[in-house]
Amino acid sequence: MLRVVFLGPPGVGKGTQAARLAAERHLVHLSTGDLLRAAVAAATPLGREADGYMRAGRLVPDDLVQRILAERLAAPEAGNGFVLDGYPRNPAQAARLEAMTPLDAVLLLELPDAVLIERLSGRRVCPTCHAVYHITDRPPRIAGRCDRDGTELVQRPDDRPEAIATRLAVYTEQTAPLRDHYGARGLLRAIPADGSPDQVAARIRASLPG
Ligand code: AMP
Repeated sequence: MLRVVFLGPPGVGKGTQAARLAAERHLVHLSTGDLLRAAVAAATPLGREADGYMRAGRLVPDDLVQRILAERLAAPEAGNGFVLDGYPRNPAQAARLEAMTPLDAVLLLELPDAVLIERLSGRRVCPTCHAVYHITDRPPRIAGRCDRDGTELVQRPDDRPEAIATRLAVYTEQTAPLRDHYGARGLLRAIPADGSPDQVAARIRASLPG
């Protein structure tokens, strides 16, 4: 049983590392960003409400995110533990989470803003299989096409410059204070997120109980 939260700014690699850890330890990976994007793509009422906030790079209202998360966290699959990626994002969400479940660790991934901006602005994704590329760091074999299925790659609307600036400001103002919140509870593990995904994964492994 392992209940982990990934904390960190947009572009730091939370999604990649959360998926890896979940696969290695047989945990449920819950990304509120992915759940919300799926709701937007399916044009559910919740997705239609969340869309505008997401495009602008702002936080979706707590009640909407709570609705999409609570049922997954309560599902039997989460019984072996979970990796939360992108939640909580403000103190109110942290309080709600605390009322739902105890945690074993909060992993804070860190990188300088300049690196985050470079990563986010070069990111391209496959709308079909959700594979993630980077125009210079991880280019597809054929420019603009997914290696797996040949679909034309797209840029997330919130990876455009104006939205990136908003997301970084939102992180600093609303999410970064959670560092002290979890630090005071003895749960915080700060992990430098530079280097390769393998190197970061090794640091994460070393910071968690076996
Ligand atoms: P992410 O994929 O984690 O970067 O999330 C993409 C976008 O989804 C964010 O910029 C927010 O608009 C929204 N979002 C994801 N998680 C949350 C959350 N916990 N609270 C509010 N909005 C969220």
